[in-house]
Amino acid sequence: MRFGFDIDDTLINLREHAFHIYNKKLSQKLDSSVFQSIKRVEIHEPFGLTDEEGTKMWNDTLEEIYYTDCPSFPGAKETLNQLHQDGHSIFYITARPKEHGERTKEWMINQGFPIKDDHFFYGMKDEEKIHTIKKLHLDFYVDDKPNILQTLANEEPKLLLKDQPYNQQEKHFTRIVDWADFFKLISI
Ligand SMILES: [Mg+2]
Repeated sequence: MRFGFDIDDTLINLREHAFHIYNKKLSQKLDSSVFQSIKRVEIHEPFGLTDEEGTKMWNDTLEEIYYTDCPSFPGAKETLNQLHQDGHSIFYITARPKEHGERTKEWMINQGFPIKDDHFFYGMKDEEKIHTIKKLHLDFYVDDKPNILQTLANEEPKLLLKDQPYNQQEKHFTRIVDWADFFKLISI
C-alpha cells in the first residue's frame, strides 16, 4: 500500500522543540504546561510576542529549529520502518520551503526515517500540497492540520489526524494520539 505523511508536528515534535529554543533565546522558563495550553499552531503568544514579532522570531530561528535535535514522536519512526519492512511505499509531503527540502531530507534520514529519493516532496503551499497528495494515489495520509484533511475528504486516501491541542475541534477523522496504535487504527 501507499502511505503519505506530513512531517512537522505529525512525525516530529517541532513546535515543542521550537518552544524550548524560544525559552533559551528569550531567557525565559515557560514550562510544558504552558506549551500544552497553546491552542493555535503558532507558539509565540506566551512569550509576549505580537504575531509580527512571532513570525520574525520563527524565521530568524528556523535554522536551529529545523536542524538540531528535534525529537520524533514516540513510535513514529518505528511505525514507518515497520511499514517499509513490510514492503509498503512511504511518501513524505512537507510544506517546508524549497531551500530547506534537501537538507530536511538528509536530516530525516539521519534521524532514522526510511526515505527513498523520489518519495520526498517539499517547497509547496498547502494548496499545492493537496495537489501532490492527490497525484500520489495514496491509500493513507496523515497530517496534523485539519484544513488539509478536510480538503482531501472526498479523495482516495483514508485520512488520519495527528492529535494536537490546536486540532481538537475537528471531529471527523481518526486521530493518532499514540503512534504505537497506528496499525490498530488502520487495521491492515
Ligand atoms: Mg504539519
